[in-house]
Amino acid sequence: LLEIKDLHKEYDTRTVLDGIHLRVHKGEVIVVLGPSGCGKSTLLRCLNGLESIQGGDIQFDGESLVGSNVDWQKTRQKIGMVFQNYDLFPHMTVIENILLGPIKVQKREKKEVMEQAAQLLEKVGLSDRKDSYPRQLSGGQKQRIAIVRALCMNPEIMLFDEVTAALDPEMVREVLDVILGLAKQGMTMMIVTHEMGFAQAVADRILFIDEGRVCEISEPKEFFTNPKTERAQQFLNIFQ
Ligand code: ATP
Ligand code: MG
Repeated sequence: LLEIKDLHKEYDTRTVLDGIHLRVHKGEVIVVLGPSGCGKSTLLRCLNGLESIQGGDIQFDGESLVGSNVDWQKTRQKIGMVFQNYDLFPHMTVIENILLGPIKVQKREKKEVMEQAAQLLEKVGLSDRKDSYPRQLSGGQKQRIAIVRALCMNPEIMLFDEVTAALDPEMVREVLDVILGLAKQGMTMMIVTHEMGFAQAVADRILFIDEGRVCEISEPKEFFTNPKTERAQQFLNIFQ
């Protein structure tokens, strides 16, 4: 579904991603780990056209996402992204936030989108909050709404960048459970997280990045019990 080939990214003259290779198959869950500043967020942002890249190629659904003739409006509908800081529109209710993309961008029928939204809200346990404003919700609830909003566009892949990092501990679980549910349903995902137990549970493969390079890519059991590189061992020691 997604193929990253020799991706290079620089900010000014500083190299941030240095020859990243990765193939993500349909239904696969990749968890991206690595020390702060290693380039995890930048990698996800490159996949969604939020960053220009200086070398290499990204193929999504067999089409290159590099160059000036990429139709990002169309592509972004297939690539859902949720960040650390829930970016719901504060002046719109939950349901208005959710409907905006499908109706304005995808030009879908309101009735059909409403039904889908109701189903998704039910799944994340927030059916009763559709007329609330974001300020009336907890952080965990806002994050679950942000996930529903992205899912309502029917994306082919979901990118999550530390979606629980800004949450109080008691709200982390409810958001992680939603993502685990998506994995069970076969959603293709790339997830940046600092929750190691969750990483191990959800990942098909762990991508460990250090200083902009892929240091290790392996199955979670292998990565957590027997990391191949010293850098990965050091990284894991912090969490023990
Ligand atoms: P964290 O775990 O702290 O979120 P990260 O792995 O997501 O870190 P990135 O945000 O991808 O790291 O940043 C990679 C490097 O690029 C860092 O050294 C950062 O300082 C630099 N960087 C990120 N965004 C910019 C920017 N807009 N302009 C210049 N440098 C940037
Ligand atoms: Mg980051």
